[in-house]
Amino acid sequence: VNAAPLALPAQSRGAAGVVAVFFDVTELRRIEGLQRNFIANASHELRTPVASIRASSETLLGGALDDPEAARDFVEVIERNATRLHRLVDDLLDLSRIEGGERPLSPGTLDLSVQAEAAVALLRGRAMERGTDVKIDVAPGTLVAADPRALDQILTNLVDNAIHHTPNGSHVVVRARAANGRVVLEVEDDGPGIPAVHQARVFDRFYRVDPGRSRASGGTGLGLSIAKHLVEAMSGDITVTTGAAGGALFRITLPTGAQKK
Ligand code: ADP
Repeated sequence: VNAAPLALPAQSRGAAGVVAVFFDVTELRRIEGLQRNFIANASHELRTPVASIRASSETLLGGALDDPEAARDFVEVIERNATRLHRLVDDLLDLSRIEGGERPLSPGTLDLSVQAEAAVALLRGRAMERGTDVKIDVAPGTLVAADPRALDQILTNLVDNAIHHTPNGSHVVVRARAANGRVVLEVEDDGPGIPAVHQARVFDRFYRVDPGRSRASGGTGLGLSIAKHLVEAMSGDITVTTGAAGGALFRITLPTGAQKK
């Protein structure tokens, strides 16, 4: 262990000798490295849309405004990139609030089938555009102890990913079962899946299997990282494996909700 003694003022030394407090320098360096890395990644992610917005507005001001058709294209680029920036900043703030403990969660007893229906209902339009079929196989009355907004965010993220990271016409299923005082919730698709070497890392901030495709589809690379933090804050865990159909299979376990008396 790379540890260094922390010098204390004379009056705080015990009668028996010098009090030495050890801290792990290696761990501090590791955390500093992670922070630096995160800031570098975040800056890079923010820079790309900002550069597009600047280039498009410069082109507009440089004369493209006089050509309505070209102008429309550039304004669309600006709009797309502004939306991307908005999403990034929202996700970054969310992550920082969750990590800093500023988003207290209040787990209550929820019916998972109701929560799943509500989350999926908002994604049906997007699924239909892609010809993707989303099924829910959760028995009514499956009780889970979770914060409603956090559970909604997790479900939305996993189902949205399953729609976006699979080809048109894919199949997605949300299922749940109770086992040993826990509820096991799975979101599985029959898309290309996540190669085993990437499976542990997709929960890291900004980690993507295919960065170009993820950005093009509007992804921020933060969704799974946020989901993992939320699941863990509710005493659960989340993993991903490859399902029987070769697609991604996300599995979450959460404590069971209390039965109403
Ligand atoms: P993104 O905004 O890119 O979706 P996420 O943190 O939600 O960021 O996901 C991280 C990466 O995990 C994605 O970029 C993608 O490579 C991979 N991924 C997530 N869900 C799926 C899925 N259902 N099928 C295949 N790959 C997925």
